[in-house]
Amino acid sequence: MPTTFSHKKHFSMNHPRFFRRFAGLVLAGWLVITGSAEAQSATTGQRDVLREITDVVGLKPRFQLRATTEVQNAAAVVYGGQRYLLYNPQFVAAVNRAGRTDWAGISILAHEMGHHLNGHTLRPGGSNPADELEADEFSGFVLRKMGASLAQAQAGMAVVSDEEASPTHPGRGSRLASIGEGWQRASQQIIASNRVAAPSAAPAVLANRNTAPVRTVAANTASPVSVLGKIVFRNNPEQDYYITNRLSVVRLDRDERTAQVVGRLTRSESVNYPYVLVDEQQRRLYISRSGSIVDTSGRQVALLSDPS
Ligand SMILES: [Zn+2]
Repeated sequence: MPTTFSHKKHFSMNHPRFFRRFAGLVLAGWLVITGSAEAQSATTGQRDVLREITDVVGLKPRFQLRATTEVQNAAAVVYGGQRYLLYNPQFVAAVNRAGRTDWAGISILAHEMGHHLNGHTLRPGGSNPADELEADEFSGFVLRKMGASLAQAQAGMAVVSDEEASPTHPGRGSRLASIGEGWQRASQQIIASNRVAAPSAAPAVLANRNTAPVRTVAANTASPVSVLGKIVFRNNPEQDYYITNRLSVVRLDRDERTAQVVGRLTRSESVNYPYVLVDEQQRRLYISRSGSIVDTSGRQVALLSDPS
């Protein structure tokens, strides 16, 4: 027999008393029988709902999902160091029918997973209202991330919960409200992340301590920016300008530690002046192969050199 066995029950439908008294023993026996059986991934329909749920919260689906008629409805249990999600397929089908959406059954599984991920199944004892509301909030959060509307996220709980609170379970109103809180929290995250540009996907660049302190220009782009050359203008030799690998001309202010793009390089057809520098006012300068930078009248105005 297992040394640790905790079990949470969440939905009061039929035979609650029978369930409370015998579910532990029945489940333990059933798990011994099927413990080595192949993992079942099918849940409601053909979707791998377990993976979809763990995906939106960034976790690996390290849960054992078991369809079984030995539970009346659904349960999160820990057995032999493994986390199980047990559900009665007839119960989930009935919830989906009553809620008129498959999101209803998905929310039941998300609720059970919420018990595991909030650590409720690590403690002995049965259901309590605070744990139930946490699991409900998690299910609302997950379902919003999966694309469910608020009504779809609440559909399952609306049909399985009791209207009145009990010592073990909150009443329907507070459960639906908790699902709504989780749903809103996810919604605000999604809206906030859509408002700003996606953060850079570039990996961290390991600094080379032997190089000059300013060799890369931070930018909110998909790849690191490096410096190809340095430009010194005759009429402003104190000011540093750099050409990046993106062919941008950047003015660097060392004191204020800022870098501003002030122009771009483009290739030209000319053999003697292979690059053209175009500034923000669309003025053009021509860069020779030796690094001399001349204006349209051929007067040298700046010099391009190695950045070091
Ligand atoms: Zn529960």
